[in-house]
Amino acid sequence: MEWIHPMPKIELHAHLNGSIRDSTLLELARVLGEKGVIEFADVENVIQKNDRSLDEVFKLFDLIHMITTDHQTVTRITREVVQDFALENVVYLELRTTPKKNDSIGMSKRSYMEAVIKGLRSISEVDVEFVAATDSEKLHNSCDGGGRKKIYVRLLLSIDRRETTESAMETVKLALEMRNVGVVGIDLSGNPLVGEWSTFLPALQFAKDNDLYITLHSGEVPNPKEIQAMLDFKPHRVGHACFFKDQDWEKLKSFRIPVEICLSSNIITKSISSIDIHHFADLYKAKHPLIICTDDFGVFSTTLSNEYSLAVRSFGLGKRETFALAKSGIDATFAEDEVKQQLGLIFDSASPEYV
Ligand code: 5GP
Repeated sequence: MEWIHPMPKIELHAHLNGSIRDSTLLELARVLGEKGVIEFADVENVIQKNDRSLDEVFKLFDLIHMITTDHQTVTRITREVVQDFALENVVYLELRTTPKKNDSIGMSKRSYMEAVIKGLRSISEVDVEFVAATDSEKLHNSCDGGGRKKIYVRLLLSIDRRETTESAMETVKLALEMRNVGVVGIDLSGNPLVGEWSTFLPALQFAKDNDLYITLHSGEVPNPKEIQAMLDFKPHRVGHACFFKDQDWEKLKSFRIPVEICLSSNIITKSISSIDIHHFADLYKAKHPLIICTDDFGVFSTTLSNEYSLAVRSFGLGKRETFALAKSGIDATFAEDEVKQQLGLIFDSASPEYV
């Protein structure tokens, strides 16, 4: 399946801190170990473990945040994550991250996001287009030769389920202020066993009323009432949907809400017991819009190419069908029409290889 790596791909569900390279995480942890801030050997064990329940994943995120949350590191990991995606021929990336506040190091949600933007601006190995079309001088066609990889990047600001309504609202207002630097929407994520839908709803509604796109982590644990309430909100996309029941599928399908599918993540966290019963198969058969994504390529030791290979092997997709599936992701992006058109051209110019 060597054809998967060069195939243009779209990534719509990637968390910044979950996509940190293991090598970077270990390097940063070693430095903190030397300073006596953490016990490196303990951290090394956690980082190198592959078997992770959902609960362990969230403990790992707390550890990652301890190691990564300063402005310089946020800038560095943003640069590395975008480069890594571009190098495996991801042509459009929606990168999500939770703006963080930490008074002890002078970090506000805004300064955290500015560090992310600085990371995007600092990339020189590949061409990055991250500002909204109206503000960029001109959008170029990525297929216009030169051999340099080019990636469109848009940002989603995540609300963590541990946050209050006020804090969630602060994130939404920040997103609105940062639209001119590529912020297109809001994500709701964080430990699904924590927090109530009603806490986040006012901020999410405000975001929607102000034309931000919304994607929700939904159905990662059995919570029928919340799943129905989330679907009634009509988000622009949902992620995971592992514990949806018949009535949820009916609603999702009738609203044509695209689903971000994260195969390795769902299997590793045991949200789905085995790949053969993954809802990918049913949604794909029903021609429901879906997008293959990584979730956290660092934490789950995967790549987007690997996720596509897994889908090909598990569900018997052919080369042409896989290409069509990747291309269909364009419609589910939160990008401006001009960018969607450019993405269409990129896929069209690659299509002779995949028919
Ligand atoms: P960050 O927002 O710090 O860049 O990325 C890590 C954060 O994304 C985690 O702390 C968590 O809130 C969220 N996240 C990452 N992976 C998952 C997942 O599989 N499910 C949920 N619900 N949240 C996740």
